[in-house]
Amino acid sequence: MANDGASGVKLHTRIVVGLVAGALAGSAVNATAGEATWVAWVNTNVASPVGQVFLRMLFMTVVPLVFASLTLGVAGIGNVGRLGRIGVKTLAYFLVSTALSTVVGLVLVSVVDPGGGIDQATRQELLATYRGQAEGLQLGGGVGFGVSTFVNMIPRNPVQAAAAGDMLAVIFFALVFGAALTRLSNDRAQPMLGVVGALADIVMMIIDFAMKLAPYGVFALIFGVTSRFGWHLLGELGWYVVVVVVGLLIHAGVNLSLLVRVLGGMNPIEFWYRSRTSLITAFSTSSSNATLPTTIAVAEHQLGVPPTIAGFVLPLGATMNMNGTALYEGVTVLFLAQVFGVDLTLAQQLVVLILSVLTAVGTAGVPGGSLPLMMVVLATVGVPAEGIAIILGVDRILDMCRTTLNVAGDLTAALFVARTETVVTDVTMPEAPVAVA
Ligand code: ASP
Repeated sequence: MANDGASGVKLHTRIVVGLVAGALAGSAVNATAGEATWVAWVNTNVASPVGQVFLRMLFMTVVPLVFASLTLGVAGIGNVGRLGRIGVKTLAYFLVSTALSTVVGLVLVSVVDPGGGIDQATRQELLATYRGQAEGLQLGGGVGFGVSTFVNMIPRNPVQAAAAGDMLAVIFFALVFGAALTRLSNDRAQPMLGVVGALADIVMMIIDFAMKLAPYGVFALIFGVTSRFGWHLLGELGWYVVVVVVGLLIHAGVNLSLLVRVLGGMNPIEFWYRSRTSLITAFSTSSSNATLPTTIAVAEHQLGVPPTIAGFVLPLGATMNMNGTALYEGVTVLFLAQVFGVDLTLAQQLVVLILSVLTAVGTAGVPGGSLPLMMVVLATVGVPAEGIAIILGVDRILDMCRTTLNVAGDLTAALFVARTETVVTDVTMPEAPVAVA
């Protein structure tokens, strides 16, 4: 954890202060001024720009960071056999932890039946209020899900894929690039390794700059969410929100903690404590991608994961491993089925489970990234896709929570792979220095 030179207060402490102060200020404004025009003005002209500057500083590092860390990770792992083994292990872990998480959500939503309590009038009112936003999502996310999703992972043009922020394609290119690099003779490979290594260092430095803005950025982002949040929706959608949040907590407290203990060989309490900077950043940015730099630093310096493993597992995880998102998708699809009185058979629920896990892989690690794909799942099992309007009002808050779990899942994966592939470096030292946050 880096100290902030000026005040001497640790950066993560300042981020937490930003988070809490933003939430308090936003809630106070929401309660007292509610719909006032000045609140909208402050949000549009102050809070949103400040939050966006912080987020964009992080986003602009994501493509070079993923490329550099994956290339170095693959090259560092060295031979293709070992790479294959680590790759399979990583993907298997992603699938198992995501499926576990989704099952928790599906069981919970079936037992609690939060959609059963939503009356016709509330449903119509919510649909009417958020219909515009839902239509925008459909337009913006004209994505399908099928065989083509996998074919499209191979970019025709890596520069174009990078420009479009198509992370699966960037990942594919970086993996192949790194693998090819390992086949070169040492004297041919060294110059490129030097360049990519320097690129990774430069990106980390930019992220260090960006994180100096974090306390203000986080304040602005949280203020924006809480000052505009329709708290009254919590009355109507309360049980749905409770199911999502309790499901996430169960997955974190039971499943992930057990995986950390059994497969990662670490005390779960220690794990959660040491991961806190990543968790706070994920919660406040709602973006796995924006959190990736922090996550890499935390894995290396707090959890003792070797850089090659962190550089390989975490960029993959930020894009492909979304425990929280899959749980959220499963719960939301079943919830909306309950609201619309669509009876899903067990086989259809199994389809929801499988699609939730698969679409979570294809979800972009950005705020609201899962919404377009969730509409595909809804349509597949015969629930009206525009029904997503019903939950849009509480989505951002739930996005903060599910992204936190997405990132936690990535860290557990890195710990597991590191434990089985190498000796985890000393994690007992108190507060190893972290370059970022
Ligand atoms: N915001 C999530 C993430 O970045 C994706 C989502 O569920 O919308 O991990």
